Amino acid sequence: MNTAYLLIGGNLGNRAAYLEQALKQIEALCGSITHTSSIYETAAWGNTNQPAFYNQAIQLTTLLPPETLLEQLLAIEIEMGRVRTQKYGPRTIDLDILMIDDKVLDTKTLTIPHPQLHNRRFALLPLAEIAPSLHHPILDKTVSELLVNCPDTLDVQKK
Ligand code: ADP
Ligand code: MG
Repeated sequence: MNTAYLLIGGNLGNRAAYLEQALKQIEALCGSITHTSSIYETAAWGNTNQPAFYNQAIQLTTLLPPETLLEQLLAIEIEMGRVRTQKYGPRTIDLDILMIDDKVLDTKTLTIPHPQLHNRRFALLPLAEIAPSLHHPILDKTVSELLVNCPDTLDVQKK
């Protein structure tokens, strides 16, 4: 049994409804959701000429190995109508694995912890709400410490 931390987000259509639908799909296909953060709104990162994102962090208890979890998440993204057009472009739903226990993985398709976690306030703030003491196995810091040291200045607002 693994404890995974995911960041779910999107910036097209009814953003709150897409998050809710994603939670249902994750429960149906991946495991039990044991914690959910508030929803946070952030101006788009990277390509800024697009609607603001809604993001939410969740804790998931799962029997799936990491690669299978990623495959299920990508399948949910596709089923929910995500079309990959441009990097950092708009999307109905984006499902990212932030961490899985204290696992460290780096394959062609999956990097854990998520390689940008410590650089993204929109990921750290919701994660800190549900798992402030979670330990980053590479940077050797807790999520709270990563948040304090995060260089990202984008405004992240709790909804
Ligand atoms: P991004 O989330 O950076 O905007 P995508 O959602 O398009 O980009 O993801 C591109 C690829 O990133 C996925 O197909 C997946 O194979 C890979 N990937 C690597 N590590 C992770 C991770 N920790 N969580 C989710 N996807 C990951
Ligand atoms: Mg993604």
